[in-house]
Amino acid sequence: MKDNRIYLSLPQESGYEQEYIRRALKSNWITSGGPNVDEFENELQNYFKNENFVAGSNSGTSAIHLALILLGVKNGDEVICQSMTFAASANPILYQNAIPIFVDSEIDTWNICPENLEIAIKDRIEKGKRPKAIIAVHLYGMPYKVDEIHSIADKYKIPIIEDSAEALGSSYKGKKCGSFGTFGVLSFNGNKIITASSGGALITNSKKAKDRAIFYATQAKDKATHYQHSEIGYNYRMSNICAGIGLAQIKILEENINLRRDHHLFYRDIFKDIKKAQLFESLKDDFFSNYWLNTILLETKKERESLRLAFDEANIESRPLWKPMHLQPVFEKYPYYGNKTAEELFEKGLCLPSGSNLTDKDKSRIKEVILNFFK
Ligand SMILES: *Cc1c(COP(=O)(O)O)cnc(C)c1O
Repeated sequence: MKDNRIYLSLPQESGYEQEYIRRALKSNWITSGGPNVDEFENELQNYFKNENFVAGSNSGTSAIHLALILLGVKNGDEVICQSMTFAASANPILYQNAIPIFVDSEIDTWNICPENLEIAIKDRIEKGKRPKAIIAVHLYGMPYKVDEIHSIADKYKIPIIEDSAEALGSSYKGKKCGSFGTFGVLSFNGNKIITASSGGALITNSKKAKDRAIFYATQAKDKATHYQHSEIGYNYRMSNICAGIGLAQIKILEENINLRRDHHLFYRDIFKDIKKAQLFESLKDDFFSNYWLNTILLETKKERESLRLAFDEANIESRPLWKPMHLQPVFEKYPYYGNKTAEELFEKGLCLPSGSNLTDKDKSRIKEVILNFFK
């Protein structure tokens, strides 16, 4: 009999989900918005020490779109975006008919490279357009170089949208990821560190921006007894049922972070004696990663592919890193600033199973494949 398949990152129930869902059904709040959404936002605001305001949305992608709208990004504007990321970071730029300008990663955090960011900004300004926003991503839970990136953004007075979809629970110099940018974005998709089945959040530092986000997320209704619209709105508000799942999940957020960080130690122990693969780790204590996914770099693309196939043979999922946006058919015509760092990471990198529900048995199966492969 074949062993069960082990996946990269699956959702895990806390046990409170049914209660919150039942409460929503019983009170007939079976719609977008509602008491669970308000409570979920409050819980998140608490998590951010009430220094930020949080607006719940139906996805992380819609939260990024709302951030662009609130920053006034329009037709023909340019928006800088980390190239190495999930397409959801970049797609909303196109929803606004704006132009994505992609920037390479640096090798320490795999996130947006300060040198190339500044080169890109200078060149775009020289060509006549000051970028309207920068989308920087904390990939796999690893904080980007916050001080360096934000000082460049401040120097050129360009706001940052901080894509923290993979980094809830990560922090930089003790401050939580998602709270550095003009806007921060979270995702509660099923594969993230906690899930709402589907959902996202926009983090801001002003009540006014939160209210504007909710205004656009609920069809931009003017104050009137009839439906009156002076602006284009969206149906982006979080569902009250989903928020119930989110409320149940937030109870196990700390536990999930600890579990994922434990998985990281498990991998560290395996890879410490393996010269042909390098586990991706935090630079130093400033960079606290939730290790949403553990990732490794192999020496060649060929090795990476053979290891992936060896995992697959043992019914274990592993996956190449995010394919950089500037290499994607849909984005390759847009400007790119950088060298080959993101490309090389994509060729040689592999994501390993890291979900909070990995069992000891799963771990020993994973370990066996790795040790066999490198022996
Ligand atoms: C998951 C993810 C998103 C999008 O979130 P959804 O809730 O799935 O829309 C955006 N950016 C990154 C980096 C992600 O991993």
